[in-house]
Amino acid sequence: MSRNKITIIGAGMVGSTAAYGLIAANITEEIVLIDLNRKLAESQVMDLQHSVPFWGYTDLKAGDYEDIKDSALVVITCGAAQKPGETRLDLLKKNSAIIKEIMPKIFKQNPEAVVLMVTNPVDILTNIAIKMFPKKKKQIFGSGTILDTARLRLLLGEKMSVDPKSVHAYIIGEHGDSELPLWSTAMVGNSAIDNFYKLSSKNKKNIFNKAKNAAYAIIEGKQATYYAIAAGIVQISKAILFDKKTVFTVSHPLNGEFGIKGVSLSLPAVIGRHGILRRVNMEISAEEKRLLQASASKLKMAEKDLK
Ligand code: NAD
Repeated sequence: MSRNKITIIGAGMVGSTAAYGLIAANITEEIVLIDLNRKLAESQVMDLQHSVPFWGYTDLKAGDYEDIKDSALVVITCGAAQKPGETRLDLLKKNSAIIKEIMPKIFKQNPEAVVLMVTNPVDILTNIAIKMFPKKKKQIFGSGTILDTARLRLLLGEKMSVDPKSVHAYIIGEHGDSELPLWSTAMVGNSAIDNFYKLSSKNKKNIFNKAKNAAYAIIEGKQATYYAIAAGIVQISKAILFDKKTVFTVSHPLNGEFGIKGVSLSLPAVIGRHGILRRVNMEISAEEKRLLQASASKLKMAEKDLK
């Protein structure tokens, strides 16, 4: 197996932008793009290839499922994208059929591949994929609330005049309308956020809502979001390819934690070469637990409705 080959299924906005980010980061020797629309994959590859002499050394090709054979990581970005006014859950029916079709093709080629689900609704699709391959539950996970968490950190950093990288705050739960911020554990440096800066409840609520609803605002103006999720895909890829053991709020199945079972949603977890290594234990407030359980119930209902 070539050590760091990545296959991206879906050569649309997210898939191609992730490929561009990976090329610029110089972390993989080969990227393969697979898309139902072969012509699109080929054109994306040509355009991306022309950036390689500027960035570094990554090889690219438009390929097929056989290319997964020696890929360490498969990133799933294929499917319908969120339309203006459409919630992520509206996408469920269309995209679950696609995921059910492609998951067996991936593991037929490479049972060891780590699979990063990005297609929405990411939590339910992650859960569906894991139910198909329960023994691979550490290898399959969703990008979850990594983007929501980045948006929250950015907005908090702006408000408190501090680098977002020094803001340790998480959004957990569904990647979508029922997600929640963890104020009880939020820190700036090593100080509890409330000791660092006096944010009123109203400020916190506004900042969280802005982070939560950012996708809707962006989609209204440009139909899709892709730069930031692509940057997140690059960081998760790095953690996998170089076994960095980095903490991300990724979507994965819960098994009784916080009274939740049978649902995949985002909680902070450690990511390394073989996928999820372990979850980060944490104390959350009673209200946060209630909101997390409500988020899980919403996801469970949506998946049930599918049947
Ligand atoms: P896009 O329409 O630009 O690209 C999707 C691509 O998938 C298309 O090129 C299409 O031809 C291809 N495709 C469809 N069915 C396929 C199949 N069965 N096999 C192979 N290819 C297939 O959409 P996009 O903007 O790139 O978004 C892709 C997905 O990523 C959407 O579901 C979107 O909601 C999601 N997304 C997730 C996050 C996140 O944080 N998780 C952020 C942004 C976008």
